[in-house]
Amino acid sequence: MDWIRLTKSGKDLTGLKGRLIEVTEEELKKHNKKDDCWICIRGFVYNVSPYMEYHPGGEDELMRAAGSDGTDLFDQVHRWVNYESMLKECLVGRMAMKPAFPKGMLPQSQVTDTLAKEGPSSPSYDWFQTDSLVTIVIYTKQKDINLDSVIVDHRDDSFRAETVIKDYSYLVHVALSHEIQEDFSVLVVENVGKIEIVLKKKENTSWKCLGHPQENHNSFIPKKDTGLFYRKCQLVSKEDVTHDTKLFCLMLPPSTHLEVPVGQHVYLRLPITGTEIVKPYTPVCDSLFSEFKEPVLPNNIYIYFLIKIYPAGFFTPELDQLQIGDYVSVSNPEGNFIISQLQELEDLFLLAAGTGFTPMVKVLNYALTNIPSLRKVKLMFFNKTEDDIIWRSQLEKLAFKDKRFEVEFVLSAPTSEWSGKQGYISPALLSEFLKRRSDTSKVLICLCGPTPFTEQGMKMLHDLNFSKDEIHSFTA
Ligand code: FAD
Ligand code: NAP
Repeated sequence: MDWIRLTKSGKDLTGLKGRLIEVTEEELKKHNKKDDCWICIRGFVYNVSPYMEYHPGGEDELMRAAGSDGTDLFDQVHRWVNYESMLKECLVGRMAMKPAFPKGMLPQSQVTDTLAKEGPSSPSYDWFQTDSLVTIVIYTKQKDINLDSVIVDHRDDSFRAETVIKDYSYLVHVALSHEIQEDFSVLVVENVGKIEIVLKKKENTSWKCLGHPQENHNSFIPKKDTGLFYRKCQLVSKEDVTHDTKLFCLMLPPSTHLEVPVGQHVYLRLPITGTEIVKPYTPVCDSLFSEFKEPVLPNNIYIYFLIKIYPAGFFTPELDQLQIGDYVSVSNPEGNFIISQLQELEDLFLLAAGTGFTPMVKVLNYALTNIPSLRKVKLMFFNKTEDDIIWRSQLEKLAFKDKRFEVEFVLSAPTSEWSGKQGYISPALLSEFLKRRSDTSKVLICLCGPTPFTEQGMKMLHDLNFSKDEIHSFTA
């Protein structure tokens, strides 16, 4: 808040009196001291000296990128932070030296050459039409493609289809040459990795071309090098779940296809006192009993979140202030959980603390519905008091209904009536809880909660001889 106040004070934070300049590499290198520190992020140069004392990671962390291109460092630490908005008053200008092609617009051969060495081969696209339809076909050349691999947004005349293939992103991004209707369908032919997006023409005329290329059209680049794309979603409902946690339901805009993969999160973005603030949240199902069905468009338009409101927090009180019908921006999904980690699994153990329960919801639901080899799913859920337990009665009902599922609650500050387990995550609790059926049974342990909880848990699991492949921790 102090930083936002300073940026709004009208003070000249760049020292350039409002001018924007072209910065050469030699010039950038000169500004490498605390009181004169310029950093380049994605081609834009910022004077971060006034921001030093407000940087949550401290001055030394910021100085690691002084006088240089800090994009990679920034991406490693907090790529989701909306620096454009946070640092807009610190903008000095653009880098003068530009590559021959902007990032992501490399000629096709160059894209393929670069990636052939390290990543999957580049997809391609094509389109064809009938009197009433236009079909865009994306050939991913990958087998493990499904409906959540592709995200489509059509707004005004801009059409954007991003396909995520491993750690890479393939983008079809055009200004369509003719108008289309609001609804479209997305089909995936999984065994050949083909995606078809079927658009309905507004008028039955013949299109000479699909449209004009927009930024990064037909690019195939590492996901970490792409900016996060947001769309505005409408708040449809908000229900109390515990005394401080609510179930928010957001509706995607029309002409959007977005399904957040199991175990992944998105970023929510809201303007707070004039600055765009972004925080990560993990979508859940509307309840533990919603079947894991093949989603059918256009019904698959709601995203649910379980969000704890911190009265002294920065973001959640603003989120809680939203009225039904208000908008919040939702990003494309991120995260490193891979669904194949669940394949052929026999025992799934979930260790969750507080809202660290959120990624477990879809993992649990998916495993119980889609993994035939599954023998047991055990959730150990750590909370302060009984009142803090999210969806307690649903969890107990599920354990009653499905004998493969067991839940154990552990409270750190219970009342005297509590007869269940108490305390914090510990080797004793874990060794009793994590019983594998045999030495060879396939096991996965998922962990999520406050960072120290997750870090301590990871260490305890290693000490209990679980291998790296058997542990997944959910982090930012
Ligand atoms: P903050 O401003 O971050 O404050 C949180 C608490 O810390 C408050 O009690 C505040 O008083 C206290 N605090 C803040 N600063 C200080 C300080 N300097 N000293 C002492 N105390 C301080 N949360 C969910 O509820 N649901 C989810 O699905 C979810 N998914 C997530 C997914 C990921 C990948 C990650 C990394 C986090 C997720 N979170 C989730 C947490 C979420 O991103 C936010 O961190 C959380 O909502 C708090 O936001 P806030 O801005 O309201 O609170
Ligand atoms: P909380 O209520 O503060 O804590 C839940 C339980 O964990 C309490 O029993 C608490 O005990 C205990 N705990 C706290 N710190 C601990 C530690 N160092 N060691 C052992 N136990 C500890 O939790 P919350 O407010 O809901 O916060 C949930 C956290 O999960 C947030 O930090 C959020 O960012 C994170 N989260 C991450 C993801 C993700 O990465 N994908 C998703 C969702 C949530 P006491 O309170 O009694 O100390």
